[in-house]
Amino acid sequence: MSKAVSIEKNNINELPDPNDPAVIEATEHYFDDIHRANPNITREQWRNYYAPYIYAIQQLKKEKNAVILAHNYMIPPITMCVSDVTGDSLELGRATEREDVQKADIIVSATVRFMAQTTRTMARPDQKVLLPTTGGGCSLAESITPEDVLKIKAANPGLPVMAYANTYVDVRALVDALFTSSNAVDMAIQAAEDWNTDKVIMVPDKYLAENTQDRLNELYEAGKLKRKIEVLTHPGSCEVHERYSREDVQELRAMNPGIVILAHPECPREVLEESDFSGSTSAMIKYVEDQRPEKVALMTECSQGSNIAAANKDMTIVSSTCQMCPHMKEVTIEGIYDALVNERQEITIEGDELHKALTPLTAMQEMMAKRAAAS
Ligand code: SF4
Repeated sequence: MSKAVSIEKNNINELPDPNDPAVIEATEHYFDDIHRANPNITREQWRNYYAPYIYAIQQLKKEKNAVILAHNYMIPPITMCVSDVTGDSLELGRATEREDVQKADIIVSATVRFMAQTTRTMARPDQKVLLPTTGGGCSLAESITPEDVLKIKAANPGLPVMAYANTYVDVRALVDALFTSSNAVDMAIQAAEDWNTDKVIMVPDKYLAENTQDRLNELYEAGKLKRKIEVLTHPGSCEVHERYSREDVQELRAMNPGIVILAHPECPREVLEESDFSGSTSAMIKYVEDQRPEKVALMTECSQGSNIAAANKDMTIVSSTCQMCPHMKEVTIEGIYDALVNERQEITIEGDELHKALTPLTAMQEMMAKRAAAS
């Protein structure tokens, strides 16, 4: 099953032999955790297919001084065996400040295009940022264009306009600040404070905006906010999270007494209403590590559950309803190998656009620092 990839550059045209003792020694110890995360992966498949790629990638990273940043939605063979940093989009952006990432000549972004653009925006200019797929789209990032942003601004003069990090650089270049699923509520509060307004615009995810609005209302009603804040948005959505429904959560509870259900804030409001916790992918991981529930379901992309299962032997992850992101799943272990060997699918952003895209990112960091100082 081992597959040779034809690579002309560097004269690398074959993967290592799966029976090479060095390959076995470097990869065999991962198998139990990988099999727990995905019981469909047999030992034979592991040895003959995954192991040679993983060994080759580990060697290439050393030879080329490369690091791999992987989103939580990557499959366990990527997150556990070749990734240097695994996290949500905010953590992957911040990873460019880490010493090992700063020293690298090549950064492979095992994500989708908008996240690779964030890495490109934050990396040193002389570092190569590679996306291991020619696609890497996203329904949410594609739901808004620069023209949409200009129309929104024209219709709402003077209001702060913030874009979710799940947008492309041409959209980010036009907004006042970025936000992520981890800091949406804090950014809405800080924007209302900084602009001295009771209305803020958060595009393009209508569900994330609605869920942020609910949380702001709760804080206001609990007397924790100076003003009532209204969130205006745009009709975008994530094709993965919007598939979840109230009935999915109710069915999971009925079939699994005692289950703890975690939902991503890109899900519809009704899903969050029925769930026990809502947060970004990294907030979900922190929740299960702190609370140690015996049985968990995650209303988010399938690999998030697989990665938690791989890392937590004592936890049962109920994955019957999980939804797959076709864009994240374009990144494969073969694609990472190919990108590293050929150094292709480089992400580039022109100077002026890079500067404009960096401005709202810096604004987010400054606003979060103010928010942290105030609390
Ligand atoms: S999970 Fe949703 S937001 Fe994330 S890349 Fe896929 S489509 Fe985009």
